[in-house]
Amino acid sequence: MTTLLIKGGRVIDPANGLDEVADVLIAEGRVAAIGSGKGKTEAEIDASGMIVCPGLIDMHVHLREPGQEWKEDIESGSRAAVAGGVTSMCCMPNTQPRLDHAGVLRQVIERARQVGLCDVHPIGAVSRNLDGKELTEMRELVRAGAVAFSDDGRPIWHSGVMRKALEYASTFGFLVIQHAEDLQLTGGGCINEGRISTQLGVNGMPDVGEDDMISRDIMLAKLADANYHVAHISTRGAVDLVRRAQAEGLKVTAEAAPHHFALTEEEVLGYNADAKMSPPLRTEEDRLAVIEGLRDGTISVIASDHAPHHEDDKRCGLSCAAFGIVGLESMLPVSLDLERGGVLGMPELIATMTSNPASLLKLDAGTLSEGAVADVCIFNPDEKWTLDRNALFSKSRNTPWHGREMTGRVLHTIKGGRHVFGKGEILV
Ligand SMILES: [Zn+2]
Repeated sequence: MTTLLIKGGRVIDPANGLDEVADVLIAEGRVAAIGSGKGKTEAEIDASGMIVCPGLIDMHVHLREPGQEWKEDIESGSRAAVAGGVTSMCCMPNTQPRLDHAGVLRQVIERARQVGLCDVHPIGAVSRNLDGKELTEMRELVRAGAVAFSDDGRPIWHSGVMRKALEYASTFGFLVIQHAEDLQLTGGGCINEGRISTQLGVNGMPDVGEDDMISRDIMLAKLADANYHVAHISTRGAVDLVRRAQAEGLKVTAEAAPHHFALTEEEVLGYNADAKMSPPLRTEEDRLAVIEGLRDGTISVIASDHAPHHEDDKRCGLSCAAFGIVGLESMLPVSLDLERGGVLGMPELIATMTSNPASLLKLDAGTLSEGAVADVCIFNPDEKWTLDRNALFSKSRNTPWHGREMTGRVLHTIKGGRHVFGKGEILV
């Protein structure tokens, strides 16, 4: 294993409260020292003017393998991840077959190890076949490598199943992640219910369809004294509910996806299916509420909800198009707008994609502590570039940011001490 010196960058490690210009020395795949590098190293990266931080953790990714490898697979998803500075990601269970038994989880982890670019941590299914009716063997899934549980892609709609899942979660110390969507209110809808859905003449998904489920879940989380996490929070009401639950001392947390704090429902005007996702883009009022939630810490995590789809699933009219956008490669530059806008300081912003998800999921990642596995992201916060959907490393092209100028670019990604991404290319 070689030694590598990352020279002269602004090193930000939120887990250790570190923010200073320094060199990072990597040896034997681990962080050996942070300070002033001297002596001979086999390789060097000049990071002056750049930010050096822990490799990002994206706790909400759809990798599509097994079952829909034409949209994405573990290899292409891992390439997209490291191109976006992500060195650990959690994959959601709505594959075919579902991540609802130990064998499939082990396969996913093994495949990710073979690819060797990015750690993949499966989120186990709460219910068999994600049908919401019968719990999976959760302890067995934990032994196979599940780091949390969700039925994402679908809500955990059955109150009794949710209660039991939260009780297990409380007993065994894991996190239940909810895709909060009351299908009886949102079913058949394709974008936010409101002015734009009326204008376009399509069925809408009302904000209360998110809020009412979170409201129920918070009561159940309180009853079970469990860790409950709201995925991709998108409404003002939902942010208020989580804020109040936290004030009450409940173990309720939330994540936001970049599109929900960067874009509004206006994006779907012109029937743009690349702006269709679930939960949908909401109003400006909701967007500002999500930003406020990030500012005051109600929302502690940013995650991409990377959801690749083939053109055929998107170019079939707004109503029938699949939900979701790719996000691994745009998460950091879009999120940097929060720092530029004064919502979060750079260390606080980086924490939402490193130390905060690491502590929620108890992952041994997201820090540059001496001796930690050397997962590092090096980015230029000011570099401008234009996102070209055809230049993405993901297999899929469904992004609302095609042709838009991004500010902030990932220049290098180090995984376990190996330089895996640099100067726009995968290096291994
Ligand atoms: Zn979801």
